[in-house]
Amino acid sequence: MGMKLTIGYLYPNTMNIYGDRGNVIAFCRRCFWRGIKTDIVNLGVGEKIDPEKYDFYLFGGGQDKEQVIASDDLKQNKQGLKKAAENGVAILSVCGGYQLLGHYYKAFDGSKLMGLGILNVKTHASNDRMIGNVLIETDLVADRRMVGFENHWGKTYLGDGVEPLGKILKGFGNNNEDGFEGARYKNVFGTYLHGPILPKNNDFCDLLIKLALKKKYGDIELRELNNNIEGAARKIAEELE
Ligand code: GLN
Repeated sequence: MGMKLTIGYLYPNTMNIYGDRGNVIAFCRRCFWRGIKTDIVNLGVGEKIDPEKYDFYLFGGGQDKEQVIASDDLKQNKQGLKKAAENGVAILSVCGGYQLLGHYYKAFDGSKLMGLGILNVKTHASNDRMIGNVLIETDLVADRRMVGFENHWGKTYLGDGVEPLGKILKGFGNNNEDGFEGARYKNVFGTYLHGPILPKNNDFCDLLIKLALKKKYGDIELRELNNNIEGAARKIAEELE
């Protein structure tokens, strides 16, 4: 009986801006190439979460109006996600999803969209629209570089107990002030990197697969894949202004 991972895809129809759905596609494809089965379960508005059921969650980005829908549903139906996070389940949250795994996102109209508080971060919409290609230095991957693009006006500030994903080399990052991008707490990752981030950064995708497998099956050595195309594409992306 081979290995299988069940993916909880949060708000697939509401929080899926700039192709963030591609993260689920990349995660599943890199599992498939290694003979690891995957099952994607859509966790939309009104769906409760059984934390025992899922091995990995994706929470994509969304504009302020979509975040109102997600914020309202989170507090009513997604409390299981907090338990999963504390139990060490791997979660990737991108931009609007990242903001709502924090304590709150204070939107441009001044309304405060409450998050789950899994990440000890707070976000305030600003007058600066932070748009563009991003290059970060990070110790999450062997070649210490990750790329993507960002498009947000939320400025996120990290509190105690969370580490940034990396240092900004190009772009704005969390708040265009402290020089950092993203946040990590246990196996919960928040990032402003769209792209989608996982197809653009295959080693980070493999890290999430390893974390999900480790929690379910113990330490697993992932079979190496031929990443020549991904590596060539990332090298070009690293040079983008
Ligand atoms: N609406 C949020 C902001 O503008 C998140 C945007 C996004 O997910 N790209 O900061």
